[in-house]
Amino acid sequence: MEHIVIVGAGHAGTQLAESLRHNDFTAAITLVNAEAGLPYQRPPLSKDHLAQAAPPEPLPLKTHQFLTDHDITLIEATSVLDIDRTAGTVHLSNGENLRYSELVLATGARNRLLAVPGTNLSGIHYLRTADDASRLHDALATARTVAVVGAGFIGLEFAAAARARGLGVTVIEHHSRPMARAVSADMSQVVADTHAADGIRLVLGESITAFDGDGTQVSAVLGQNSRRYPADLVVVGIGVEPATEVATTAGLATEYGGILVDAFLRTNDEHIWAIGDCAEFPCPHAGTPTRRESVQNAVDHARTLARTLTGSPTEYSSLPWFWSNQGRIKLQIAGIGNADDLCIPHGDPHSGRFSVYRFRQDKLTCVESLNNPAVHIAARKALAKGTTPTPAEVTADGFDLKHFVA
Ligand code: FAD
Repeated sequence: MEHIVIVGAGHAGTQLAESLRHNDFTAAITLVNAEAGLPYQRPPLSKDHLAQAAPPEPLPLKTHQFLTDHDITLIEATSVLDIDRTAGTVHLSNGENLRYSELVLATGARNRLLAVPGTNLSGIHYLRTADDASRLHDALATARTVAVVGAGFIGLEFAAAARARGLGVTVIEHHSRPMARAVSADMSQVVADTHAADGIRLVLGESITAFDGDGTQVSAVLGQNSRRYPADLVVVGIGVEPATEVATTAGLATEYGGILVDAFLRTNDEHIWAIGDCAEFPCPHAGTPTRRESVQNAVDHARTLARTLTGSPTEYSSLPWFWSNQGRIKLQIAGIGNADDLCIPHGDPHSGRFSVYRFRQDKLTCVESLNNPAVHIAARKALAKGTTPTPAEVTADGFDLKHFVA
């Protein structure tokens, strides 16, 4: 009997199960998930869940009723420990073995840990799961001073949420600007200015050397030259690492940390596939193998793979896009930027609505927009269709991206 086993019920795994049924796949589907409970949405965990005083409830991706109605079996609080590729089985932490005809790894990512003295002190948090968010929500209720290590998306979203709860917040970042790997210098500056205006202290170009405390509870983050940033609650947001151990133990190829797949999202085993945060895939928009950490990527991988697994082999080619809500900042990114892009700002940074158009060799590849969903939607359409403006057109008076997709 055909049986698709999906390892991981995050955004990618859950969407795959739904899309398979949507495409009239009739055989058995089993989702195996290490976390307990229903699959849930991760983005709110660093945003609304923490900014509100009420205790957060994870927002389910699917209800029990949906899973029952679509004959999708969820085995929760259970990990896949290893794969027997010869037998075509996976071994589960509950002792069972499951036979698969196709196996999909949607194992996501986990937080990169900061390796400095003092990490065992209480009051130091990471944020990936609903349980993490719940612990952080409780800690915010009694915290006095908050420090955030890392000015990436998660760190800044959490900082804005903590500030909304009335707390003093210091964000400490190793790079010279926030979100340095992900957005242009112009966008970094506007975001930094907005957070500063809202009372968040941003310390840039600082490297953490240790956490200080009384042996039990953290009291400060220590930087270079013994600089001291008092905090009784610390969130470390220094990026993630793809969850690849099941793949590597099974001898599947990995590269740059991710599970290596081809354009059809297939690993080097013809019956094993990888999607979402864990997959390193050939991205036509980046021009190189890439790994992305976004809901769009997870969902579009899943939809593409569902087509392939239901008889219509499809190469993955979706345009990457992303959003991050940081208090009053609604940042949206369409496409992929590179370090050496020509970046053309558009709009008044002080108006609260602002965009940056990024060009590689005079070709528009990415549009960052702040509080401007209409530009973001137009950018996605223009980039997907290839009907993009030139640098001269972007700088001309009266430029409006929407005219390029009308
Ligand atoms: P995951 O959602 O990580 O799911 C993987 C699941 O697999 C996990 O439940 C894990 O426990 C399970 N698993 C792992 N190994 C095993 C195993 N061996 N056996 C069984 N189960 C296993 N993206 C955006 O686009 N916009 C945002 O605003 C945004 N905000 C975010 C906020 C937070 C706090 C976080 C953590 C992420 C955010 N992201 C955002 C990123 C987005 O949530 C991820 O890109 C997305 O969840 C990836 O989906 P996934 O299914 O690949 O992995």
